[in-house]
Amino acid sequence: MQGDLSTIKGAVAIIPAAGIGERMKASKPKQYLKVGDRTILGITLDKFLSYDSVELVVLVISPSDQYFQDLRYIDHEKIVVIDGCDERVGSVHNALTFLFDNGLPDNTAILVHDAARPCVTHSDIDKVYHSFKQSNKPAFLAVPVVDTLHKIDDNQHVEGPVDRSDLVRALTPQVSAFIDLHNAIKSAIENKLPVTDDISALKLAGHEVEVVFGRNDNIKITEPDDLALAEFYIERQKDK
Ligand code: C5P
Repeated sequence: MQGDLSTIKGAVAIIPAAGIGERMKASKPKQYLKVGDRTILGITLDKFLSYDSVELVVLVISPSDQYFQDLRYIDHEKIVVIDGCDERVGSVHNALTFLFDNGLPDNTAILVHDAARPCVTHSDIDKVYHSFKQSNKPAFLAVPVVDTLHKIDDNQHVEGPVDRSDLVRALTPQVSAFIDLHNAIKSAIENKLPVTDDISALKLAGHEVEVVFGRNDNIKITEPDDLALAEFYIERQKDK
């Protein structure tokens, strides 16, 4: 799908998948590793392709990606593939620039979701999407911090505990109006602000955002052990 996006009425999903997943220590980028008999990226894409409100999925992959061409999604009518950057924020920016250049309406809901989170459920996507539709404010899925937190310095000396009572862990999807996210991410990049998710950029741009508590099993596959955990969660979701 390419060309005029001005007729889009539903939501657009951006799936950043241009990372290498260094901490996974695998022979290929982690999104191409398998959970059960399917790739992580394939499972994540299906979650959004089968979500009714999503009209278009913008998938961001590395310019040197050698694996996507082998997946059955290569010619999918709802997927546009865009080159990514060295950092996640740049990868998301490239997707937003594509959407801007092709006339996407300013108020379109954009759901940004990490490719590395295949365990996300439709019920959690619903919760965060409906929060945005109701309040018109950016919203993100989060879970409370349950472990004790300690601050350490560069030499790993323990400086002391950090109050966790007002902290949450930010998950994805994160949802916002297209033009707000485009402007916020552009400004974060221009001002070299360190943003590792979309809500950080929106907050730094002055937006009020809503937190939506989601499920604990929406893990970001990061380290080798996470593969078995993701497989367990996905199997368990099939039973429901
Ligand atoms: O590295 P991390 O797991 O935090 O990345 C989160 C998501 O952002 C992953 O799905 C990854 O592929 C994506 N990413 C990207 N471009 C980068 C770095 C990460 O699209 N340069």
